[in-house]
Amino acid sequence: MTYTILVVEDERKLNTMIADYLKALEYEVVSAYNGIDAVKLFREHGPDLVVLDLMLPGIDGIDVTRKIRESSSTPIIMLTARAEETDKLMGLDSGADDYMTKPFSMKELAARIRAVLRRTASQGRAPGQEEQVLSLGLIIMDVLKRSVKKRGEELKLTSVQFDILKYFLERPGRVITRGDILEEIQEYGFEGYERTVDVHIKNIRKNIEDNPGKPEFILTVWGVGYKLAEGVE
Ligand code: CA
Repeated sequence: MTYTILVVEDERKLNTMIADYLKALEYEVVSAYNGIDAVKLFREHGPDLVVLDLMLPGIDGIDVTRKIRESSSTPIIMLTARAEETDKLMGLDSGADDYMTKPFSMKELAARIRAVLRRTASQGRAPGQEEQVLSLGLIIMDVLKRSVKKRGEELKLTSVQFDILKYFLERPGRVITRGDILEEIQEYGFEGYERTVDVHIKNIRKNIEDNPGKPEFILTVWGVGYKLAEGVE
């Protein structure tokens, strides 16, 4: 089988060098040059492994790891500029599976990639992967496929609507404020207006509710925010 590797590195030359080397070894390669694109491309491509530079413009490698770890245990090899950074990261439990200090040889990187992939493959399914289906009543979300179905029919949610609905499905019955949701969707670069959240909720309801005027799934908690209903049949 062909493995797909997401390479996240803002130094273009190094990114290209890694990508070319891995392609020559028959890996599929997807390249990102900043943290925001890294998260986006991760969700789009569902790679088998991520090679992730620590220092990136926008959101850094730690934040990217945190985002990825919210929904996936895909192995991450972190690239750091200095040995001290690696030491600090290892003490931090940053969520990466392995670390490499620059400069490194391509051969060494390839060896680490093989080792990490072998380890993951021997565990069969990556841990946590079986929990990638969320549901409430007739609504079933496949997180890895980014698909949501109701009564077996595919719902057409935008990326941000999908992420907000996922956030709710992971927290049944818990009151969620507009601020919580804004924080969750920050990466989309929306301006921080609470009104924006109401508009998204309205659009999600149009998609998932039989009668959006009388919502059964996402309920309004007056003066506070919203919550996902529990035990919808
Ligand atoms: Ca960098």
